[in-house]
Amino acid sequence: MARRNKIYEGKAKVLYEGPEPGTLVQYFKDDATAFNAEKKDVIDGKGVLNNMLSEFFMSGLTNVGIPNHFIKRLNMREQLIRAVEIVPLEVIVRNIAAGSMAKRLGMKEGTKLSRPIVEFSYKDDSLGDPLVPEEYITAMGWANQPELDEIVSIALRVNDFMCGVMYGVGIQLVDFKIEIGRVYDAELPQLIVADEISPDSCRLWDVKSGEKLDKDVFRRDLGSLTDAYTEVARRLNVLPANSTPVTKPTLVN
Ligand code: UDP
Repeated sequence: MARRNKIYEGKAKVLYEGPEPGTLVQYFKDDATAFNAEKKDVIDGKGVLNNMLSEFFMSGLTNVGIPNHFIKRLNMREQLIRAVEIVPLEVIVRNIAAGSMAKRLGMKEGTKLSRPIVEFSYKDDSLGDPLVPEEYITAMGWANQPELDEIVSIALRVNDFMCGVMYGVGIQLVDFKIEIGRVYDAELPQLIVADEISPDSCRLWDVKSGEKLDKDVFRRDLGSLTDAYTEVARRLNVLPANSTPVTKPTLVN
């Protein structure tokens, strides 16, 4: 495909103008960043793995009726997506305390929560994506109350889907972040899952060993990030074509 106009470049992805109005091409880079880009590296193959994994998760959401931006994968690093008006929130769902929640509340990482928790951060790197209560969201006009209710409902449905898929391949979904966008179908705004779903935006722990298979491997210098993401892709049977083929997802008893 001819190179198109760049619309936006983020830390891990680039968005280009799409072939038709209302579409964009999302390109997955190999760049990894953490701690608000204080830690940076280039991890060979990460973009390819995240492109494949985000395709897998978004297609799965489509199959269970959760609307999202994914249209089709174009090549190893690019996918065609619907253009959305992004809601400026990081929507985080937690099943097990880890990361910022464990730190904020002095909890031991790995403490199981009595029910999934949905929380919101305001997407602004210069402020370090601060945690915001729901009242801020409606008061600031980032989303209205019915939209906020819908966002919580979508987040919990995504959690149910993701927990099931990951547990089936022996991985615990500790927490994850999604972003939500508005699209205007027949003038009516509709909320859909946007951005990406990949090990960059989830915490994934092996059920048996507790081994981390997500971006914490990079954040905390725990080993090879490519190996961790490849393991997730291998279990889900979504490895790139030139890698060792696996015929079925590996079911763990
Ligand atoms: N997360 C993300 N992008 C962010 C912040 C968090 O994808 O800018 C994901 C993160 O990978 C984890 C979940 O959201 O799966 C919860 O992250 P947390 O609030 O614990 O923050 P962190 O410990 O990553 O700073």
